[in-house]
Amino acid sequence: MKGTKLAALSLCAALLLSSCGTPAEKATVSAAPQEGTYKAGTYEASADGRNGPVKVSVTFSADAIEKVEITEHTETGGIADPAISDIPAAIVDYQSLGVEAVSGATITSDAILAAVADCVKQAGGDVDALKAVPVGEGPKVETLQDTTVDVLVVGGGGAGLSAALSAAQNGASVIVVEKLSALGGNTLRCGGAFNTYDPEGQANNPMDEALASTVEGLLAHEDVSEEHAALKAEVQEQWDEYKASGRTNLFDSPEWHALQTLDAGDYLGNISQIRTLTSNSLDTLHWLSDNGVNWSDEVSTVVGALWNRSHQTLPDPSGAEIVAALENAARDEGVQIYLDTKAESLVSEGGKVTGAVLTNANGETVTVKATKGVILATGGFGANPDMLKEYNQEGSKWENIEKLSTNNTPGATGDGITMGLDVDANLVGMGWIQLMALNSISGGGISGYVNSTAFVNKEGKRFVAEDQRRDVLAEGALAQTDQMFFGICDNKEATLRMAQEALDGQVQYGMISRGETLAELAETIGVPAEALEQTIAEFNDLVKAGKPDEFGRRTWEGTIEEGPFYAVAFSPCVHHTMGGLEINGNAEVLSADGAVIEGLYAAGEVTGGIHGTNRVGGNAVPDALTFGKIAGENAAAK
Ligand code: ADP
Repeated sequence: MKGTKLAALSLCAALLLSSCGTPAEKATVSAAPQEGTYKAGTYEASADGRNGPVKVSVTFSADAIEKVEITEHTETGGIADPAISDIPAAIVDYQSLGVEAVSGATITSDAILAAVADCVKQAGGDVDALKAVPVGEGPKVETLQDTTVDVLVVGGGGAGLSAALSAAQNGASVIVVEKLSALGGNTLRCGGAFNTYDPEGQANNPMDEALASTVEGLLAHEDVSEEHAALKAEVQEQWDEYKASGRTNLFDSPEWHALQTLDAGDYLGNISQIRTLTSNSLDTLHWLSDNGVNWSDEVSTVVGALWNRSHQTLPDPSGAEIVAALENAARDEGVQIYLDTKAESLVSEGGKVTGAVLTNANGETVTVKATKGVILATGGFGANPDMLKEYNQEGSKWENIEKLSTNNTPGATGDGITMGLDVDANLVGMGWIQLMALNSISGGGISGYVNSTAFVNKEGKRFVAEDQRRDVLAEGALAQTDQMFFGICDNKEATLRMAQEALDGQVQYGMISRGETLAELAETIGVPAEALEQTIAEFNDLVKAGKPDEFGRRTWEGTIEEGPFYAVAFSPCVHHTMGGLEINGNAEVLSADGAVIEGLYAAGEVTGGIHGTNRVGGNAVPDALTFGKIAGENAAAK
């Protein structure tokens, strides 16, 4: 997602700086440098960014900064993109180092400014004088005013953008409002893993004894409802057919995906909603491809995904790829997007939702009338400690949850839930809150994929099946010394998931640890070397055997044998809130008596009930995008 319109718009709308300024504005800049200000030439420098060094190359003429280029960096795609693309342009446009950092990418912005300042010094320029050069007023931001539209989408993450795109593709006029200065929400921050049954993509994934015993185990589970019994019967038939066929590649189907999702949520997820998800997810994957998302050929298991059906975006394994593609496709379809624009409440007439009251980017109160519907796609409440405390159930596994850190967007404050409650929407599963065990303490990390990785505690021992449910992983991690553990992998896995340059950068900045041998790695991370060597030797034997181990791990792939070896330190944080607005298969919001609230749709993390107590890793993105697509289609059809 390099240099997209997202980057440009987020920056302009945030009024952070003026790279969007016109040449006329440029001419009004005072304190213009005079001939002889710089020793003409190209200079290079680097400064520390979020993930490692940010290197710049700056070309000067005698009186101007002619060009600023970022030549190398390992900053996070999507989050850092606005800074990478627009700060250099602003420096040149305004001949100033007084450019403000981009909100959400402050460390990257500061690194660019510091490295350019270094080049200015090398060229004999006056850094302090350049810092004092004003960057102008910036462009006038287009703000949302009172208006009427077919469909209003609240929230510009994955669910909101897919709802907007599908509504527009189905002929509706659409406005998206996003309260932050950039689109993307948690979808932008996540790894973009997308679970779906995919016969073509999974053709080369093998089946083994451990995986077969997983299928048999779930088929042997006692019936919890008629719907469950019916689902099991379908899977049983497919499983019998599979065994009779003599196939050796991975068994999978939408129904098996559904059964695993149901089981992982302790049989409390809504079966019909789960089936809607798993039977439409492949379609959604293809729709995303049609709209510009590229997928890796490799299908594997992201943490907590339980089966080899996680698809990964290209070129980066990141939700940023999905957000960028959806934004571009939505704009091409004529969707209007307003940043820094917050929906405050819904307007309802005679029980029907007809629009919303919002605060626009200038702080003015405006009303949007939505003739076909309002789609709430505001995400969860992981960044709202008051709501976490209020809804964390008595006897929950997570004590003092409001005190844990979160890896959520600051926008995840549960606004859609509050707005929904005001129009009598029903809430389901509010106490089911997911912690993410794989929360990197340093901010660095190799990947969320578990196939060829061992989780090891400070004593050098494994303590959990790495392919387990996320709640099991988090509970296991919280019980270890200092509530932390290390993900250990070898060079094969590390270089499969991350470019060598990025790995080197993260090692240099202490974000991940590397050792030529396991003993060297153990010393670096402060773990007893003998224990680590023994643990990894046992892990490798288990991979070769391909059988369930003492913790119940079943999905094995690569050994950890090829040096150098890598370790990332992790500690659990608040990750996903499974509860929220109840919706039906059309993504219509339901009230407590089960009736549809006319004119109101919801999709993504703002909704509740589908995942039960625990969400399967890699199911959130297909959930948000599939129900977003459904919401958009249905609202447009009204
Ligand atoms: P999902 O995966 O369900 O799409 P995300 O977290 O990716 O969830 O996106 C939700 C987006 O909604 C975030 O970018 C968040 O800032 C935005 N949002 C939350 N509340 C509001 C609101 N009141 N008005 C506008 N945008 C909102």
